Amino acid sequence: MTTLKNEVSSRRTFAIISHPDAGKTTLTEQLLLFGGAIRSAGTVKGKKTGKYATSDWMEIEKQRGISVTSSVMQFDYDNKRVNILDTPGHQDFSEDTYRTLMAVDSAVMIIDAAKGIEAQTLKLFKVCKMRGIPIFTFVNKLDRQGREPLEIMEELEEVLGIESYAMNWPIGMGKEFLGIYDRHNRRIEQFRVEDQERFLPLNEDGELEGEYAIKQSGLYDQALEDIMLLDEAGNQFTEERLASGDITPVFFGSALTNFGVQTFLETYLQFAPSPQPRQSDAGAIDPENEEFSGFVFKIQANMNPAHRDRIAFLRICSGKFERGMTVQLARTGKTIKLSSSTSFLADDRNTVDQAVSGDIIGIYDTGNYQIGDTITESKKSFQFEKLPQFTPELFMRVTAKNVMKQKHFHKGINQLVQEGAIQLYKTLRTEDVILGAVGQLQFEVFEHRMKNEYNVDVMMENIGSKIARWVENEGDIKDSMSSSRSMLVKDRHDRLVFLFENDFAMRWFSDKHPGIKLFSLL
Ligand code: GDP
Repeated sequence: MTTLKNEVSSRRTFAIISHPDAGKTTLTEQLLLFGGAIRSAGTVKGKKTGKYATSDWMEIEKQRGISVTSSVMQFDYDNKRVNILDTPGHQDFSEDTYRTLMAVDSAVMIIDAAKGIEAQTLKLFKVCKMRGIPIFTFVNKLDRQGREPLEIMEELEEVLGIESYAMNWPIGMGKEFLGIYDRHNRRIEQFRVEDQERFLPLNEDGELEGEYAIKQSGLYDQALEDIMLLDEAGNQFTEERLASGDITPVFFGSALTNFGVQTFLETYLQFAPSPQPRQSDAGAIDPENEEFSGFVFKIQANMNPAHRDRIAFLRICSGKFERGMTVQLARTGKTIKLSSSTSFLADDRNTVDQAVSGDIIGIYDTGNYQIGDTITESKKSFQFEKLPQFTPELFMRVTAKNVMKQKHFHKGINQLVQEGAIQLYKTLRTEDVILGAVGQLQFEVFEHRMKNEYNVDVMMENIGSKIARWVENEGDIKDSMSSSRSMLVKDRHDRLVFLFENDFAMRWFSDKHPGIKLFSLL
């Protein structure tokens, strides 16, 4: 009999973080192929194939051929049920991307071996690090000439400040890529060798016994030397240090040629955590607790005016989801029946009956939910920890085209802000509306929804990227400190925020007003 405990311990819920073009789509597809969730590559994103994934409902998605908000992919492998939460890159990068990381138990970071750590990887890494979740690293594109592996390991430590442990090590690279030395499984996996010689076992000394072509090459000796160096001077890998996010296991491979992916997946599933307890105002909630609970980490609006409904993505944190169950929305105390319209997203296999802690469900929403909402089955309601607010980087001044539409304009903005689609700021005296976002796409979605859902055409004036800093000692702030290069505004909780034009303007301000303590959100 499958108990809840067994079910929960089989869950692995993660997101892939990377900079555009590092190979996230390619790796995701390979993983889904292993799990049997798709039959051919090229089906994950519509972007490249002209097909649309099942998660693409929104008109805007179709127009752009992208997935506006993250979707969920699920497959079974090695008696584990794997949930991959997509975190979009490119211009569709938004707060959703960050919030999705609040709903996973671990992350997989892909690094392009030739490019090393890139801007978006760094941003996403920081959010994972802040949560202290385990991060697994896949160094991709070894079939091309890239940086020296030792250099990449050093960069991880220097740029990200995380210790690294090589689970395997490349033997050559690019045209001379021969395979990987698999430290964890004590074998060599040969590149482009498919017969029984693909995996060659290592002896007690960690060397190959017998005559093999791969040994003829100096690259094999070079790899052995590197491994010796790592054994002696490298970091120690322990599951505790992985669990606390202090060390990242590093895997080398090539997603495109499907090399090293299976080894990665199997080792990942072995070490990645199952759903962990979540903090709430009633203490930690155990995922094996029989009473269903979860929180909303994302709301996806349906852009089709004929279907005003939205979908709230819920991460289950305890218990088991059942169709038609009655739950409580902690924020309002309202009782809601999760009707039959509730289902898994991006997955028409209807496995929803088995959704337990760690899984994600989509709930049709007619305006009940906000980002961060807690839902509980228990009569004794509680709230999970608040989702953090993220420091926006892009800003727009917004007005209604038609002044007669002021009421609708403010109503629409307030609802979209509450829902978490965008952040609201106002100038101090004139109360001009300034919207803040993490990614450009949030503005486009905002504009589209204002028109479709609130029938308001908006005018957006780009005021560019800014460095937003909140103020610790608000009493010391004077109006005169506000200038075009350090604009003083209020956030929606009436906290004071400076929007600095750039780093230089911020430093100039701090030098001039050393008493003012500035801080950023995440
Ligand atoms: P994403 O933007 O991170 O989703 O990246 P994609 O998966 O779309 O990959 C970007 C480009 O890199 C595509 O042209 C891929 O074919 C290519 N690519 C991905 N993985 C590899 C790899 O292992 N080796 C090589 N040579 N190219 C790769």
